[in-house]
Amino acid sequence: MIKLSRPNITKEAMQEVCKVLESGMLVQGEKVLEFETELKKYINVDYVSAVSSGTAALHLALEALEIGQGDAVLVPDFTFVATANVVEIQKARTVLVDVDTTTYNMCPDKLEEKIVNYNFEEQLKAIIVVHEFGAPADMSRIMAIAKKYNLYVIEDAACALGAYHNNQHVGTFGDIGCFSFHPRKSITTGEGGALITNNKKLASKIELLRNHGLKRDENGLIDVVMPGYNYRMTDFQAAMGINQLVEFNENILKRKELVEEYFKQLSGFKEIILPKNINEHAWQTFMVILNTEINRDSVIKLLKVNLIETTVGAQALHLLTYYASKYSYVSNDYPVSKVLFQQGLALPLHPLLNLDDIHEIARIMKKLF
Ligand SMILES: *Cc1c(COP(=O)(O)O)cnc(C)c1O
Repeated sequence: MIKLSRPNITKEAMQEVCKVLESGMLVQGEKVLEFETELKKYINVDYVSAVSSGTAALHLALEALEIGQGDAVLVPDFTFVATANVVEIQKARTVLVDVDTTTYNMCPDKLEEKIVNYNFEEQLKAIIVVHEFGAPADMSRIMAIAKKYNLYVIEDAACALGAYHNNQHVGTFGDIGCFSFHPRKSITTGEGGALITNNKKLASKIELLRNHGLKRDENGLIDVVMPGYNYRMTDFQAAMGINQLVEFNENILKRKELVEEYFKQLSGFKEIILPKNINEHAWQTFMVILNTEINRDSVIKLLKVNLIETTVGAQALHLLTYYASKYSYVSNDYPVSKVLFQQGLALPLHPLLNLDDIHEIARIMKKLF
């Protein structure tokens, strides 16, 4: 079977994890600090807080910016549900924005149109920009819009470690950036995530919120300055993360090489629309769009029979039961996102694949249509 995705856990990583287990010091400690320091260097940002998942990171971002009841947040319609779920959990209003056909990211024109025409009671406070599948969103335009309308920006860079916009790492443009280290992402700690910011005040608030709101005074006495969560990462997870970062640049190059081969093999093939080939893309996922006459779900089944594992890309939020019924969406409210949701096909992509695998996938796909 050619697998869709496969975490690459080296022997060294396993040894590092074992060392932490043997030490008996399991929860957040030295290794988490070391992982944060390495991420800080890699991304070039002032503050990094590792947490228990990408969803925890997004939740803390909203908490740190004090977004809650009475507020509204702009979110792209095509994303993983966690991006919007955290807005709902904070009792704020989710305002969906359609995406672009070839980058799959929030469309800046549609974003501004939504802001201009917004007429609900809740106050627009923030934009959550998603760098979908590792494709950098157009942060120059989005930051200009955010500034014009005085909105916070949270970057959901869950899939986008290693992605840049104009040579600047994604996640560093807005107020807070969020990452995920779930096994489907480009580096993994099992479950895990991180928040990044260049704002000192936000950084210290995030530190408090991830650990019960606890603060120690100079005598080591514990005090609680705000109610917080336990969203800490463990030290053995961080040990995995540190190890994966070492090979990360090499792995991205490998992903880019495989993607170039996909472009070569699948271009000019009229049943398939390819994504935009962006230079600073991190290629966490390679998703193509099948023509509307093709039944995507049966293609997934047929590819599986041919020992190729594929899957859907992300969800169109307005078509999911909770969002559709709460906000009374109708099926064509977000036409681009709807097509991506119904016709998107994520093809195998991970650093353990080789060019022959890509040739085989292209050969089988051409045979199927
Ligand atoms: C994976 C993902 C998340 C959630 O991350 P977890 O670590 O699984 O909680 C959020 N947003 C996007 C865009 C994702 O792809």
